[in-house]
Formats: sequence, structure tokens, C-alpha cells
Amino acid sequence: MRFLLSPLFSLLLFSWLNPTCSIPVSPDASDKAGVLPAQPLLINSGKQSPQLQGQQDVQIPSTPQTVKSVEGGAPAPLISDEQHYNASLMATTPFPKWLHDFTGLNEWPGSEPPYIPLEFIDLNKIQKFSPRTFGTCNIDRSSCSFDCFKCVSFDDVYSCPVFSQTFDDGPHPATIQLLNGLSHRTTFFTLGLNVVRYPEVYRLAQDKGHLMASHTWSHKFLPSLTNEQIIAQFEWSIWAMNATGHHLPKWYRPPYGGIDDRVRQIARMFGMQAVLWDHDSFDWEMETTPPKRNKAKINADVRRWKSEGKGGLLLEHDVYSSTVSSALSIAKILGPNQMTVAECVNSIDYIKEFDY
Ligand SMILES: [Zn+2]
Repeated sequence: MRFLLSPLFSLLLFSWLNPTCSIPVSPDASDKAGVLPAQPLLINSGKQSPQLQGQQDVQIPSTPQTVKSVEGGAPAPLISDEQHYNASLMATTPFPKWLHDFTGLNEWPGSEPPYIPLEFIDLNKIQKFSPRTFGTCNIDRSSCSFDCFKCVSFDDVYSCPVFSQTFDDGPHPATIQLLNGLSHRTTFFTLGLNVVRYPEVYRLAQDKGHLMASHTWSHKFLPSLTNEQIIAQFEWSIWAMNATGHHLPKWYRPPYGGIDDRVRQIARMFGMQAVLWDHDSFDWEMETTPPKRNKAKINADVRRWKSEGKGGLLLEHDVYSSTVSSALSIAKILGPNQMTVAECVNSIDYIKEFDY
């Protein structure tokens, strides 16, 4: 299986991400707690997504869409709709010493995070696909692009036995309203930049038992980036989640659904698996001028999809009060019998959780 990783690889992975493990990244980072797992491969303990062997194109039922409108036609707002903002949430995740020792930096980066080389990532082993810009597609389908062709690979998760909500682009002050209203566990695909900006919101979601996953560091269209830039998008997102929630993500969703085999290959080196979707609420279109969507239209779509009785993963966003309000309405329609992405495929929540 492509996910089998050598113990050495795993050791390096955990040593890099775990500030208390035995291969020091700093003089004081020696093994304090023996936290390395004896059998390292939680990474491979999860089942692959159901029904998938090799790559395939999937039929995604839904509102008509163009390539450009996948998962938000415009870059997600990193800071918007401050109406629920609480001054007590101003604190940001401190830049940890272990990360300073490892990177030599003193603060979280902006939207262009620097590439930090990692021992377990071999750039020479990454497939050679030329970067392509947002909204463009190669005629050749061999790279298995989801945003262009709805192609999914063997380890992508794109559906769920139970029709379940998922949320992208937070955490955000608007997320709090959602957390207060949900009565089921759900999955949040978080942006690293927002994780370190709103750590209390992140931890509130975590404490309520929701599954925290990665949506990269700053919401770039990954196929347009160099290998080093893609690595930077993943590593900084992982570091933000580790510094804030003390865990390493297993699941990530590529912004705009922008994924091909080059992106997948890099993510697999981190032990992560892609999560896509088979139903799109297009909830962000409530925020266009004029609004292209409203709650009633979204609810009608959701009721129709629910009536098909096939399950599925619904894409939503938790960074506007409008989309959060819509989400709570959808939650009433779907009811609390929903699954997190990990539950959808009977797998693990995180690659590792720390007790420090
Ligand atoms: Zn997004």
C-alpha cells in the first residue's frame, strides 16, 4: 500500500512535529515523555475511502457549476464579518519555541509562508506536473484533477454513508454561533492563518468534540504552486494546528477542490488524506452582490439531496453569519444523525494527539 511508511520515516515525521520527541530539533527537545508510538503507523490504520480502487471520475450531482466556481469562486475571506467578534478573542497562538528552534523564525508567516525543508520529504520523488493557474485545466487527464474533472484517487474521501455537513475556511468569530447551535459532531477544515488568529475559537470547536482538519495555511490554489510552496502550505497549517490544538491533522481539503496527483503525493508524505465533497451548498453565493443564493434555495437543494437517500458530504463555510445561519437551518433538516469525515470512512481523527 502506498501509505506504508517506514519506522524511520515515522520517527522523523513525529520528531519534526513533536516538540518532546527523541530526535531533537533543539537542545532542550530531548525525549521527556516517551511519546513516540511503539507501532508508529496510526497513519495507515485508517481504512481507505470506500468503493475506490485507483482513480476515477465521479458523478457529482448538484447545482450547475463551472470550474471557476468550485469551492468558492473568490478566495475565501480570511477576515470578514466581525459582527460576532469578541475582544477577548484577540489573542493569537504564541509562536512556539520548538518551532522557533526548528525554523529560526520568530513569528507566524503571512499569506506566503516560507518553505522549510523536511527530512522526510524528497522533492525528487514528486511527480512532474507543470503548475497550472486557477481555472485552467490540462487536456491530459492523467494527473487526476478534481477541480477540472471531478477525478478522485484511491485514498480520497468524497462521500459519506450518512449525509453530513462539513465546514471550510474558519475558525472565525462567526464559527461560535455555529458551535452554539450544533447538536452533532462535525468536521472543520481550518486555515492555518485563521487558526493562529482565532485560537480560542479553534479550541472551542475542538473541546466540543468536532473533528479539526486542514484547509492549508492560506487558501492558495495548490496546483498553481511549486512543490516547495505546496509543502509550505501543508507544513505551516500542521504547525498552526499542533501549536493551537496539540494534534497533527489526518484530513485536509484542498481550497477550491484544487488537487491533482502532485498535490496528493506531497500530502501523503505528511500522512494526510484528501477530503472532497459530492454536494456543494454554494452558501458563499449568499455573499455575492447581488446575492446569487439564499437560504430557501439552499434548503430546497438540501431537502432534495436528502430525499435521494444516498448520504454524501456537504460543503459549507463558517466564516459568514449568513452561511452559519444557513448551516443551522440545514442541521435541522438533516438532523443530528451525521458523521465526521473520519467516521464516514471508519478511520482515525488525527495522526497524533499530544498531551503537552
Ligand atoms: Zn475554502
